Amino acid sequence: MMKNYIQIEDPKDCCGCGACASACPCGALTMKEDDLGFTYPSVDEALCVGCGKCSAVCVFGKRGVGEGGAPQVYAACTKDKDTLAASSSGGLFTELAAAVFAEGGVVFGAAFGEDFALRHICVESEDDLAPLRGSKYVQSDTGDTFRAAREFLGGGRTVFYTGTPCQIAGLKSFLGKEYDHLLTADLICHGVPSVKMLRDDISYMAGRKKITPSEVKFRDKQYGWGVVGSLSDGKTKVKYSEVTSPYYFCFLGGEDYRDSCYNCRFPTEGRQGDITLGDYWGVPRETVSALGATEDGGVSCILVNTEKGKRWLERIAARVSLVPTDRASVEKRNKQLTRASAMPPSRDALFAAYRKEGYPAFLRGYKKQYKKRVVVFVKSLIPKKVKRALARMYGKIKGK
Ligand SMILES: Cc1cc2nc3c(=O)[nH]c(=O)nc-3n(C[C@H](O)[C@H](O)[C@H](O)COP(=O)(O)OP(=O)(O)OC[C@H]3O[C@@H](n4cnc5c(N)ncnc54)[C@H](O)[C@@H]3O)c2cc1C
Ligand code: SF4
Ligand code: SF4
Ligand code: SF4
Repeated sequence: MMKNYIQIEDPKDCCGCGACASACPCGALTMKEDDLGFTYPSVDEALCVGCGKCSAVCVFGKRGVGEGGAPQVYAACTKDKDTLAASSSGGLFTELAAAVFAEGGVVFGAAFGEDFALRHICVESEDDLAPLRGSKYVQSDTGDTFRAAREFLGGGRTVFYTGTPCQIAGLKSFLGKEYDHLLTADLICHGVPSVKMLRDDISYMAGRKKITPSEVKFRDKQYGWGVVGSLSDGKTKVKYSEVTSPYYFCFLGGEDYRDSCYNCRFPTEGRQGDITLGDYWGVPRETVSALGATEDGGVSCILVNTEKGKRWLERIAARVSLVPTDRASVEKRNKQLTRASAMPPSRDALFAAYRKEGYPAFLRGYKKQYKKRVVVFVKSLIPKKVKRALARMYGKIKGK
């Protein structure tokens, strides 16, 4: 049999979207974890019929699949206080989902299951939406959801599918045709670590904080609108942030993403969703006032990339505050809209050590980086004049 199936030679060429596994007609292709916990396609040659569908559907290396060149850009937040408090930024995801439910549709998004496995699931009513809310800074497994979405679409149900840009690109490639009753939202995304790393980190945190967490939140509005989350066992809650967690520290420093994230072309090539959702970091004060919002509550930036996106936004217009803005303003503090994350020099060594020794090595790498960042931060506090005087003094001492 000809080896017509997809073979990933360099991990940076596979984002793990799962489109290939969904497209395989005979169950020959499954997604398997590597030793870092990232999933890649694996083919059982005994089952493979060499149809090539898996290679054809893989979109990560293909160009020209983005949506919309010049999106309409808004600062936005829901008017519903409870929704805002439960969401990571402005709560637009929940409002769009509510509109989809109102017309009998279904919603796909990422939810934690047992042992912090993050998976895409489908929900059919607002009562079941809570697990999908909130940003989870780890890769979600799309599993069978592409096929399930196709089933719903085929049966005429409206489908709202949300995910990272590579997941939306994978879904669309898998579907292979346009559906007027499919709404997609992609997220502004800089990269994802693996569930294995997250589990290791939660075990480490559990040991340090003396709790057995049953819930992780990467963003907890109890601490305001920012990147501070929490771990909870149902009774006790502790902060989960770059200060307490090596994983979170490395996530924000761009050190623990899968290889493809440093090779991601989605930031530059149009958008994948009808609507793009993100945080409007650095939102101007006057925009916050115009929204009737507060900075602590959270403000989203949204990019409306297609006519369909526009129609859906009109449907929720009465429930959300919107203020037009422009892409340049949103990009200032969201470089993920303009380029892929740069791989820090420390990342390869960190992963090599993790591969060899497991989490303790990760922790060591983190401590080293943490010290470096503290030094850089302290240096940034010293006024330039003082820095110059110190340099002169140092020069004199060295010259003696
Ligand atoms: C890995 C990741 C990185 C991100 N990076 C940025 C960034 O750099 N800049 C920025 O402005 N915004 C970023 N975001 C988006 C931002 O955090 C919010 O998710 C977005 O603004 C939507 O917020 P909301 O209040 O409308 O809805 P929420 O209710 O807070 O959003 C939940 C939505 O996100 C989806 N989701 C959550 N976690 C995942 C995941 N791991 N994989 C796929 N889908 C997921 C859910 O399915 C749901 O649709 C990122 C999100 C993720 C998941
Ligand atoms: S990028 Fe997606 S479709 Fe391509 S090989 Fe990886 S998981 Fe499969
Ligand atoms: S070539 Fe066809 S049968 Fe073989 S793994 Fe790919 S999709 Fe499956
Ligand atoms: S950075 Fe790119 S490749 Fe990585 S998860 Fe986000 S969209 Fe996918």
